[in-house]
Amino acid sequence: MTALSAAEREALGERLGNRRQTLRAEIQTQLANSDDPRVVGLKNELAATEDWVLADILGDLDIAMVTRDIQELQEIEAALARIEDGSYGTCRDCGEPIGWPRLNAQPTAMRCIACQGAFETARGKPGPPTL
Ligand SMILES: [Zn+2]
Repeated sequence: MTALSAAEREALGERLGNRRQTLRAEIQTQLANSDDPRVVGLKNELAATEDWVLADILGDLDIAMVTRDIQELQEIEAALARIEDGSYGTCRDCGEPIGWPRLNAQPTAMRCIACQGAFETARGKPGPPTL
């Protein structure tokens, strides 16, 4: 697998950035319409916060209606951070380039297909964690 070109990396970064904006808007809309007391208590902070460290707080609260969006947002934040630090597009397990086809399909991918397969097998997906 060849490494991403600068143009490919840039295109994926733009898609990730756009998706981040969409997710933030969705989450804010959902929270604005929520009467969950934990959310109501956070609303002022949410309105005042630009950098979305609150995504972590919300993730911890495990508010069902936004959990999936928050998870995706965190994956996107992580991917954007990897673009910043230059590690984006490199498999975290084997260090090989992840490659355009996989990243184009899943821009937040952290592993190449082979390592992702091994990871999921080791973790025993799918389904809830077993004791
Ligand atoms: Zn790998």
